[in-house]
Amino acid sequence: NKGGLIVSFGEMLIDFVPTASGVSLSEAPGFLKAPGGAPANVAIAVTRLGGVSAFVGKLGDDEFGHMLAGILKENGVYGEGICFDKGARTALAFVTLRADGEREFMFYRNPSADMLLTPEELNLDLIRSAKVFHYGSISLIVEPCRSAHLKAMEVAKDAGALLSYDPNLRLPLWPSAEEAKEQIMSIWEKADVIKVSDVELEFLTGSDKIDDETAMTLWHSDLKLLLVTLGEKGCRYYTKNFRGAVDAFHVKTVDTTGAGDSFVGALLCKIVDDQNILEEEPRLREVLRFASACGAITTTKKGAIPALPTESEVLSLIGG
Ligand code: ADP
Repeated sequence: NKGGLIVSFGEMLIDFVPTASGVSLSEAPGFLKAPGGAPANVAIAVTRLGGVSAFVGKLGDDEFGHMLAGILKENGVYGEGICFDKGARTALAFVTLRADGEREFMFYRNPSADMLLTPEELNLDLIRSAKVFHYGSISLIVEPCRSAHLKAMEVAKDAGALLSYDPNLRLPLWPSAEEAKEQIMSIWEKADVIKVSDVELEFLTGSDKIDDETAMTLWHSDLKLLLVTLGEKGCRYYTKNFRGAVDAFHVKTVDTTGAGDSFVGALLCKIVDDQNILEEEPRLREVLRFASACGAITTTKKGAIPALPTESEVLSLIGG
């Protein structure tokens, strides 16, 4: 292990994925359990690459919650920031890609344990020791975890951490699109590094033109790096002094779940000990190439966590 601590805050859950492809949820012959939740994926992406990370969030004190905590531990993610709710259950999601190409979701969150994390339950010493603090926006949807999220961000920032934000919009989880946009933008200007997908760019700006002008409407004066990821079309980057694009790698994609989390984990791993990378374009491009390779490899296997690459897998794609 090497490098400074990356703390990832938010939800961890189990995705139930049909054992047959192209079926609706009600037709599924059975389900496979796929651990997920973007912040947890990021924490594991970091350790798989040899970095140091901790996960902060709440799980149910049930079979699924302990299974998820075990997965973090097996992957070398520090668990001192995890707590268990005595009453509520671990969040579950049922997700399928139907034959008509539409995604169908069903969530068990009424409320699930992750939503019940309180500010008092935060491990503040752990958060204060973060060099990078990463988060999404699902933890902003309801109280008390919204207050916990805001406090954790503030404590990390006051202690000098770099703040990394991937809004990771999951619209079906929000009461309304307006509410999602409002909450996501309410913490926008705190972040040092922000990654959005093309879909999120469109949602947040209200413009269907995915270009530099649209991206720059999301710029704020303290931002160090804005990234727009475009799946197999690569990514675009924006800093105060330069902007550009990095192509994606050509791979045999089977499942894109977790590509963005893998990309973010890789990026954070590289900048945690040397933030100068954010100011030197050739070095930033090299890091984004590395992160793009991570994203690409993650699409070559089913599921998110099992597909996250090691550094040697990444180097063999980049070199080859
Ligand atoms: P998100 O999962 O957040 O929507 P993306 O799908 O854009 O994010 O993926 C992040 C990065 O991973 C992309 O910028 C790209 O470099 C890589 N990536 C994603 N999908 C593919 C793909 N199908 N082929 C190659 N690279 C991919």
